[in-house]
Amino acid sequence: IKSIAILTSGGDAPGMNPAIRAAGKVALSKGIDLYGIKRGYLGMLNDEIFRMDGRDLSGIIDRGGTTLLTARCPEFKDPKIRAIAAENLKKRGIEGLVVIGGDGSFHGADLLFKEHGIKVVGIPGTIDNDIIGTDYTIGFDTCLNTILDAITKIRDTATSHERTILVEVMGRDAGDLALYATLAGGGDGLMIPEQENPIDVLAYQIAQRRKNGKLHDIVLVAEGVGSAIEIAEELKKKVHTDIRPVVLAHIQRGGNPSGFDRILATKMGAKAVEILDAGKSGVMIGMEGNKLVTHPISHAWEGERRLSQEDYDLALTLSK
Ligand code: ADP
Repeated sequence: IKSIAILTSGGDAPGMNPAIRAAGKVALSKGIDLYGIKRGYLGMLNDEIFRMDGRDLSGIIDRGGTTLLTARCPEFKDPKIRAIAAENLKKRGIEGLVVIGGDGSFHGADLLFKEHGIKVVGIPGTIDNDIIGTDYTIGFDTCLNTILDAITKIRDTATSHERTILVEVMGRDAGDLALYATLAGGGDGLMIPEQENPIDVLAYQIAQRRKNGKLHDIVLVAEGVGSAIEIAEELKKKVHTDIRPVVLAHIQRGGNPSGFDRILATKMGAKAVEILDAGKSGVMIGMEGNKLVTHPISHAWEGERRLSQEDYDLALTLSK
């Protein structure tokens, strides 16, 4: 392949920069012309496309967010809009595209390939870990560690004041962040969208814990279940402890990528360019069983979502 472009799209995630760096460096090492696209599909549409060289890739491995910037571009669902964007690549001779983002971004990439023959590879970049076809998405590990750091701080107050604190974490429709934050952070309760979460059961558990002499609780609430503020109000009607909601919000998206995320991003970024250079297209990269794998890009939304029942059961056992 002679020329490729890289873009980041959807919500930013720590580790997008090391993915850009690895993809870019591998492309340059193969003598491939390298372009960056600013603001995802919005920049592709508005022709914000620039030649990248080594200077654009240095000093970014440890930076959170994305140096290519990201944006939403709802117009991209319109085929006429995609045609304009594709033309902006073609007029520069750009044949391949590395898309770092979530399954929405993968949809856009799939259509660019099918309609305009642009060779595309998707790299899963989102804190939510909600992409089918990979055990981990880039950004999940860093985000999990940010949540754990917050839990450690919140627990000091929960313990000192003998409170029940509901910690609302991100994840969109996925409970992965809440589940693994419960397991790793020693959570005392868990509400995730993949399971039924009867408030009466939570109220009963908290009451039982008080009887057993446990005087505080940290309960993880995935945003896909609902608002921790509203759930706290409901819970107050059912159990008489001092209940407070904490919404972690956007601190979860920021920060330097963890070592795990940097390595995942680096391997996936490099692999993306190797795939394009081998003439392949229409695939997403995943990490399954500690091995890099590829799937047709549509696997991201057509495959079956998995959340480990075993891990959920363990979290429940340990949170009693
Ligand atoms: P994510 O990639 O994290 O899932 P979004 O769902 O916001 O984030 O998608 C990011 C961008 O991808 C959208 O703003 C839009 O430009 C593009 N996109 C999403 N869904 C589609 C679709 N069905 N067809 C074409 N483009 C899409």
